[in-house]
Amino acid sequence: MSTNNGGTVVNERKKKEPVFASSNGGAMQRSPADKPPFTLGDIKKAIPPHCFQRSVIKSFSYLVHDLVIAAGLLYFALVGIPALPAGMLRYIAWPLYWAAQGSVLTGVWVIGHECGHHAFSDYLLLDNIVGFILHSALLTPFFSWKYSHRRHHANTASMENDEVYVAKKKSALPWYTPYVFGNPVGRLVYIILQLTLAWPLYLAFNLSGQPYPRFTCHYDPYSPLYNDNERIQVIISDAGLLAVLFTLYKFTSSYGFWLVVRVYGVPVLIVSALFVLITYLHHTHLALPHYDSREWDWLRGALATMDRDYGVLNRILHNVTDTHVLHHIFPNMPHYHAMEATKAMRPVLGDYYKVDSTPIVKATFREAKECIYVEQGDRKGVYWYSNKF
Ligand SMILES: [Zn+2]
Ligand SMILES: [Zn+2]
Repeated sequence: MSTNNGGTVVNERKKKEPVFASSNGGAMQRSPADKPPFTLGDIKKAIPPHCFQRSVIKSFSYLVHDLVIAAGLLYFALVGIPALPAGMLRYIAWPLYWAAQGSVLTGVWVIGHECGHHAFSDYLLLDNIVGFILHSALLTPFFSWKYSHRRHHANTASMENDEVYVAKKKSALPWYTPYVFGNPVGRLVYIILQLTLAWPLYLAFNLSGQPYPRFTCHYDPYSPLYNDNERIQVIISDAGLLAVLFTLYKFTSSYGFWLVVRVYGVPVLIVSALFVLITYLHHTHLALPHYDSREWDWLRGALATMDRDYGVLNRILHNVTDTHVLHHIFPNMPHYHAMEATKAMRPVLGDYYKVDSTPIVKATFREAKECIYVEQGDRKGVYWYSNKF
């Protein structure tokens, strides 16, 4: 476990802030929850100005790089694997293909996410076209999710207004919660269900999203998620998905259902599992506060996120994993400047910047055990994760 503790200011703070033991034995300091002594302007000043520049050529070069690798992997699946002798070797080759293609396509999905933040280029139309194509191809409704995701960025860590991973108080939990999370089997089942079903259920039924007074669905242009200007783009997103589904249907009739599942379906399931995992771990950690309207402000909300280390995947996923704090502060900065900018802003953020390099599988099981609900701390309006039943 490593959390960042930079400088003497932090050492001073250590005496005041609660330090608690994590279930894996490591001592960890909570993120400070009081108003930061720096402003958004101070953070911006610390980052070299070129980091804010978007380059069409550079952005496309990353996309083309990913697409060439995805095409190579596709060739391996269609030509290479069938050429292998039947039996054991093929059984090993398919999971390898799924893991590799799922990871590379998650990188493509991350570029689509970047388009949704207008971080791909200086041209909004180009960003919308590229994002629409990439996300539709991966069965994500581009504009529909872009708008709900913006609300997440506008309201991060707000008890009342955040859009995803909305923190629940103990009183709001269903009665069976301790039975599910109180044992390793329950937690394993929860994690498997979360990685497989959370994304489609969130899109279709707003599962774990902000509660709205009526039925909420990303495919419905009249959903309370959207305002009148956004509805037409929800319809365009739906049309994009229908076009991709129709193409897939044509492929299944020509090449067979199971081939399409093996070549496309499984990697796309891995894409959704990976980014559900990534976003869950960005926003779920014992060290991170949540705020209600008495304390919440945009900057403190943006700081209440955790950078994580996914090892070799950091690079494949364009560092969406280990630069999420920066992404919440400057969402339209391109990914290829995010590492440099994170490094530059860390001295300003001090202990407000959090990074956890616990291996991801271990962190996932630990967070599923420790972060079940939130309860108010000593300070009114600030909430921390707990798991005491
Ligand atoms: Zn986030
Ligand atoms: Zn984002």
